[in-house]
Amino acid sequence: PIYLKKLRELTLKLNIHLIADEIAMGFGRTGKMFAIEHAGVSPDIMCVGKGLTAGYFPMSIVLITDKLYEAFYADYSEGKSFLHSHSYSGNPIGCRIAVETLKIFEEENILEVIKLKGDYLRTASANKLKDIPYIGEYRQIGLIGAIELTGVPGERAGYEIYKIALKKGAILRPLGNIVYFMPPYIIKEEEIDKMLDIFKESLEEYLSRFK
Ligand SMILES: *Cc1c(COP(=O)(O)O)cnc(C)c1O
Repeated sequence: PIYLKKLRELTLKLNIHLIADEIAMGFGRTGKMFAIEHAGVSPDIMCVGKGLTAGYFPMSIVLITDKLYEAFYADYSEGKSFLHSHSYSGNPIGCRIAVETLKIFEEENILEVIKLKGDYLRTASANKLKDIPYIGEYRQIGLIGAIELTGVPGERAGYEIYKIALKKGAILRPLGNIVYFMPPYIIKEEEIDKMLDIFKESLEEYLSRFK
């Protein structure tokens, strides 16, 4: 948040547009509707997708401020239009699914659900991941958690652990020596436990190769 706040100050001062890519983190992933809200600032341009339709339909939007919109909006004769079209922009089925997703966010208070499940994940991971070797750090915000492995033997540990976990029934996401959790919001508490257990077993299985 501090970085984003300072970045916003600087971009305003230097008259540079700030683009927030909220495609992965928007729609509640970090516990707020949009990740940039944690910094209490707003961008000039924001990209959204994925969670906009709960991932069930390909749909994305580029949101801009009124100021930017006005810069390209005028009578046809003025030639100010931003002439750029996409075959699938404003796809009616996509829009309908996005509207329904937003309705569910409100009706089922999804942000509160994310908070409660995030709290559960935080407590469960603190219990289950303690005393495990090579875990340098566990960090989490909302319903995204990342385990950073440090000093772990072998190459591409995250990817190897991902492959083992896949056979055990969990899709973990590797990123170098980081393995992260990004579960769907419908995950149940016992499934959060299972996800952590599978990670633990997969790490153990990976480490057993070096014994
Ligand atoms: C998935 C993703 C994209 C790409 O989005 P598309 O809609 O597939 O173009 C861009 N940025 C982030 C952060 C993403 O997670």
